[in-house]
Amino acid sequence: MVMGPTHAMSGAAAGLAVAQLLPASWGGVSSAQEAFVFAGIAAGAALLPDLDSPQATVSRSFGPVSQMLSHLVENVSQFLVNLTRGPKDRRCGNGHRTVTHTLWFALAAGAVAAPLISAFGRPATIGLLFVFLALAIRGLFPEWSKKKEWVLVTALAALLAYGAWRYVPLTASGLVLGSAVTVGVLAHLAGDFITKHGIPLFAPLLRFRGRRWWNAGLPKPLRVRASGPADKFLLSAFTMLVVVQVIYIGSGDFVEYAQFVPASTSIDSSR
Ligand SMILES: [Zn+2]
Repeated sequence: MVMGPTHAMSGAAAGLAVAQLLPASWGGVSSAQEAFVFAGIAAGAALLPDLDSPQATVSRSFGPVSQMLSHLVENVSQFLVNLTRGPKDRRCGNGHRTVTHTLWFALAAGAVAAPLISAFGRPATIGLLFVFLALAIRGLFPEWSKKKEWVLVTALAALLAYGAWRYVPLTASGLVLGSAVTVGVLAHLAGDFITKHGIPLFAPLLRFRGRRWWNAGLPKPLRVRASGPADKFLLSAFTMLVVVQVIYIGSGDFVEYAQFVPASTSIDSSR
């Protein structure tokens, strides 16, 4: 896998881009602050798949609670792989990089979040934001991953979520806000896809040479080594994309940008 910071930044960059692309007339976000909430959820969701590894720093985001959850996710993943494996798949003894690293998990995560937000509105959005901000902070600052510091991470996430609760008007539909989770998970999958190991993107539905849990990935020479130069380059590139977009959105060009999208051109009432 690429490093935690790369995952988190890629999620934030993708989240900011998608937030701008979905026009408000389709239930998209309608303010800069709301775009940042969307991106915050996506940034944290970009760490979510690695909850299947109790050793991952992200599994310590909420201390013992997330560690327990991580063990559960790992065991359930392992069980599901063994239940669905093809005749040529080896027996799975470790659920890491399996179920949560499939396209179906990306879709399912959004499909759980969207109705939750539709049904419970603001409290659900801010609740999800809180959880995902904690994952994002943990991902961005792995040096804070010494065991005790989860309290600090949780407190910081709570503070940011409280700020959003007080000051951010949320107008986007549940479907749009829930899709931020899928965007983040997809960003994670893209990051793992380009590394040496690849991911079981279509498992267990697509059978290949007797295997259902085969790893899809780039051709061997193009694969990236985790924490290597390519990883560092990607981190810088995503950080730049985030900074540029934050300045762009924050400077108020956000609405104009949305008008480039065909469905919202009718909003342009200036002429
Ligand atoms: Zn991963």
